[in-house]
Amino acid sequence: MKYISTRGGMAPAPFSDILLMGLAPDGGLVLPESYPQVDRATLDTWRALSYPELAFEIIRLFADDIPADDLRRLVFDTYREDVFGSADITPLKVLEPGLCILELSNGPTLAFKDMAMQFLGNLFEYVLGQRGESLNILGATSGDTGSAAEYAMRGKHNIRVFMLSPYGLMSPFQQAQMYSLQDDNIHNLAVRGVFDDCQDIVKAVSRDHVFKARRKIGTVNSINWARVVAQVVYYFKGYFAATAGNDEQVSFSVPSGNFGNVCAGHIARMMGLPIRHLVVATNENDVLDEFFRTGRYRPRGTADTHITSSPSMDISKASNFERFVFDLVGRDPKAVAGMWARVDAGEGFDLAGTPAFARIADFGFQSGKSTHADRLETIRRADARYGVVIDTHTADGLKVGEEWREDGVPMVCLETAQAAKFEDTIVEALGRKPARPAGLDNIEALPKRVEVVDASAELIKRYLSEHIDA
Ligand SMILES: *Cc1c(COP(=O)(O)O)cnc(C)c1O
Repeated sequence: MKYISTRGGMAPAPFSDILLMGLAPDGGLVLPESYPQVDRATLDTWRALSYPELAFEIIRLFADDIPADDLRRLVFDTYREDVFGSADITPLKVLEPGLCILELSNGPTLAFKDMAMQFLGNLFEYVLGQRGESLNILGATSGDTGSAAEYAMRGKHNIRVFMLSPYGLMSPFQQAQMYSLQDDNIHNLAVRGVFDDCQDIVKAVSRDHVFKARRKIGTVNSINWARVVAQVVYYFKGYFAATAGNDEQVSFSVPSGNFGNVCAGHIARMMGLPIRHLVVATNENDVLDEFFRTGRYRPRGTADTHITSSPSMDISKASNFERFVFDLVGRDPKAVAGMWARVDAGEGFDLAGTPAFARIADFGFQSGKSTHADRLETIRRADARYGVVIDTHTADGLKVGEEWREDGVPMVCLETAQAAKFEDTIVEALGRKPARPAGLDNIEALPKRVEVVDASAELIKRYLSEHIDA
């Protein structure tokens, strides 16, 4: 399988070459030249597989230049009961007939980002070891990506992590999770700004090709292709768990920010998984909901980004969205390059009335938005009706997912974090603290290792240079 850029400026390359790449050299995102197709007979075989077996079968389709035995070992080392808390890895919780929650946040950092990142840690270490290279990961996080990356990469050979996070904007639990790591290869940089400032710095550094090559900079934020691929697996797993046979369809509701999670759902659907609808749920930062309703994509600036109680979705520019739009416009790289030139100029674009937007229903997307009041109400309802305490992001997904329920089609709502990460809002909704997983009782009291810095790409470059030569 060869990979190309959404903007058309990259020679087709194999998986191992794009794995460490982040943005393509032309500023676009990488995608396979075509999606592998999974037929009915294959689905029938896959239905009985364990999570790691299924993950191996799916990932090998995309990572076909890694020897199968090595890939199998990496996958089985990753998706273990002792890391993810159960042999199912992603257990399905049925709330009532036709309404389920797919648990994706039983990994080390209690958010779905672990699903892909734990695999990436093992995969990166393997590929770097094979090549005798090292890598300095520069990332931006609104909370969950950063801790997932750090917990996946801590102690790994030939890897350093430099993680930018918005100063003071993550929950105390999230801050404690990241900043308490004392590993030498982990660097926490708290930026005076919001998440998009952090992301812009990563993009600016990545655009400096000379610096990037010299300092061996890579990324693991949600544009990393291997992350998207690893996420494709749980759509299949969730489909099998929610259905009795492969004639049935399901819909997925996905709490969305950077469009990485639901992008994996889009790819699973393009591969032939019988997904009826992919429901994009946003919080008050509803740039994606606006697009799916109107065709208008209007990324907003820092000043217009709401700080909400589902902070991992406080995103006004959805970095993975370009992958879907590439498919939507018939894989026309010139069109995508033109649209993203306008995005980068702060304008956005409008597909209303175009043939491309007329095809949007063929891709199965629906969308909706959830506010702070909705989250509180949904958390209360889930507790009262089903006896489950859900986190604020999962609440956004459940709220919007319930709005789009259809008879005869299970709605599978993706749980993207555990309630323990967002204690304050749970207390606001339920008047009591959520249970914390064992071992995390006192995490806020641990000593922190973090540097507060201004939102400047030049400053971050200097920091990287100083800490990479050392
Ligand atoms: C990252 C994250 C999201 C948003 O996922 P995207 O892939 O960015 O759309 C939603 N909920 C939680 C808890 C997250 O950590």
